Amino acid sequence: MIQVASAKSPVLGANDLRWPFSLPVAKKSLLTWYLRHRRDLPWRTLWSQSGDPYVVWISEIMLQQTVIKAVIPVYHRFLTKFPDLASFAAATEAEVREAVRGLGYYRRFGFMHKAAQQLVAQGGHWPDTLAGWRALPGVGDYTAAAVSSIAFGVAAAVVDGNVERVFCRLLDLRLPPNDPKLKPKFKKLAGELLDPDAPGDFNQAVMELGQTICTPTSPNCPVCPLKRQCLANARSSQALAPAAKIKIGAPVDVRAQLVILLRGDQVGVIERPNKAKFLRGTTGFITILNSDHEDPQGDGWDTKSDTQRWLKKEYASLSTLGVYKHTITKHRIRAEVLVANTPPKLSGIVWVPKDEVERALLANFDRKAWHVLQAKIRQHKH
Ligand code: SF4
Repeated sequence: MIQVASAKSPVLGANDLRWPFSLPVAKKSLLTWYLRHRRDLPWRTLWSQSGDPYVVWISEIMLQQTVIKAVIPVYHRFLTKFPDLASFAAATEAEVREAVRGLGYYRRFGFMHKAAQQLVAQGGHWPDTLAGWRALPGVGDYTAAAVSSIAFGVAAAVVDGNVERVFCRLLDLRLPPNDPKLKPKFKKLAGELLDPDAPGDFNQAVMELGQTICTPTSPNCPVCPLKRQCLANARSSQALAPAAKIKIGAPVDVRAQLVILLRGDQVGVIERPNKAKFLRGTTGFITILNSDHEDPQGDGWDTKSDTQRWLKKEYASLSTLGVYKHTITKHRIRAEVLVANTPPKLSGIVWVPKDEVERALLANFDRKAWHVLQAKIRQHKH
């Protein structure tokens, strides 16, 4: 018999979290729904065809903080270029950067590349435990649980923002889901709910429910497989559970200036240094942050470099082309595009033909600056 959640039960606090329904029934309903309605995503198809953990791992890294729609074309491009672990491990850093262009948060791919090289050096054997995955560079709790459960059937439950929201609704928990004290409780609840006989499908089922039905603002309860178990549905309190997230770090306003160097048909770009505040290791334009007009500094640069000396000397004479806005994590950046014509030979500058600039730039932050210049050129032509 299905245990129906009671609309009269008290609202739960963080200390008394427990599932208010029959677990076997809820597990069965959710899994049956998923197996019938799951979306046909490329990594699911490839995994079912090949059984290769590589295709699962790549998808999980790409999906970190990135929406599915943005991941799909890059995922195809990446796997065409690097169809297996060995080809990926043998790639150069530049080839990897090119293959993941457009996804953002590029450090994750540096870690992923390092992990691939580590795995190949150890004989190309995949870890088949949660701890084994967790030990790889760039693999956190969430990714380790996702990959090990999907590819190796490890009974490890995933908890992400979607899962937290679904749990809050099922429990009518009217608390901020990112409250740190809830983290271990969600983990425990997820472990109890997980079906150990099908952990990969089950984890994907909970996430899929959060992504497609139990969405943040308009949950589609009539078609939800857990509607009979759900306390928020019974109490019509979907808008109250969960409460608004705790704001972790207020937005920070940043002023930036990007300097586009032009010399004939070539454009000067830099490789951002490891000390840069933003987009370390990416190819982009010279970037000055929160400039002191007396002493402009390239972001993360050695103050004694000849390019830094040139920048300081020429800064006042650079022309402004336009302004755009860009956000990187909590940083709201107002970026001004400056241009320098025929600068002298400078160290650390790579000259790229104009028609290859778009391809060379990895981050949207730089591409937007390039588009400002393109728009200006078009304006002049008309
Ligand atoms: S019944 Fe509605 S609120 Fe409850 S889990 Fe399903 S979609 Fe979410």
